[in-house]
Amino acid sequence: MDTRKKYVVANWKMNFTVGEASLYLNKLAGRIQPSRKLQIVLAPSTIALQPLSLQINRRQFKLAAQNFYWREYGPFTGEVALSQIRGFVDYAIIGHSERRYVFGEREEDIAQKVAAAIRSGITPILCIGETALDRKDGETAASIYSQLTSGLHEVSKEDINKVVIAYEPVWAISSNKNAKPAKPIDIIEAERLIRKHIAKLYGKEASETISVLYGGSVNKDTAAGYLAIDGIDGLLIGNASLIADQFCAIVELAKGVKNERQY
Ligand code: PEP
Repeated sequence: MDTRKKYVVANWKMNFTVGEASLYLNKLAGRIQPSRKLQIVLAPSTIALQPLSLQINRRQFKLAAQNFYWREYGPFTGEVALSQIRGFVDYAIIGHSERRYVFGEREEDIAQKVAAAIRSGITPILCIGETALDRKDGETAASIYSQLTSGLHEVSKEDINKVVIAYEPVWAISSNKNAKPAKPIDIIEAERLIRKHIAKLYGKEASETISVLYGGSVNKDTAAGYLAIDGIDGLLIGNASLIADQFCAIVELAKGVKNERQY
């Protein structure tokens, strides 16, 4: 039986002022019932984390950081340390393709961020996924393997169950030019590659218990198809998470899903 946690993660990216984020949270709170089965995780911009952490019902929503720097403190102008946001968040998105390709985040930093989050009792949501070029060159598996190996470099066997993986093929993320939605078969293949590689690195049990999410141009019309994929434990949503009707509909679909692959 599948005992993995299920998720819907909203990445609000660089949208909403603090006031707008608060009003939007209020709107969602009035429409979404708390669920013990589903973790509904909201990732507002860093400045909204503190006020929203006072506003949320933590049985209804959890908060995630979109970014942080992995060192505890020091001369790192413009950065935010986990020690400064630890009390506000339960999750942190790490290695998002916009961090990797717009801001040039390096594999070493991603690995350090994953390790720092675990040390701070925050669940890292490690984003991985091949680019359109990787895919064209037949390098999808190699890209997934190498991002997993390097992103999890500092994670011990004891701690691997504290990590969530989000498979986000870069070519499917709506902010990219020529983005096109992934087909379920693409995701099925990637999910298998991910669990196979986790099994190689950490053993069979870890590969069966780690939560794997999908992200890339999901909306209320496509969500059900993705949620029905065996081995996919939820969704990471960008654009559609900014629209209450879209996001609430996706949450309702996720609450209803049962995908219980027998391993
Ligand atoms: C994302 O940026 O992580 C994402 C999945 O965005 P979108 O849903 O807009 O493709």
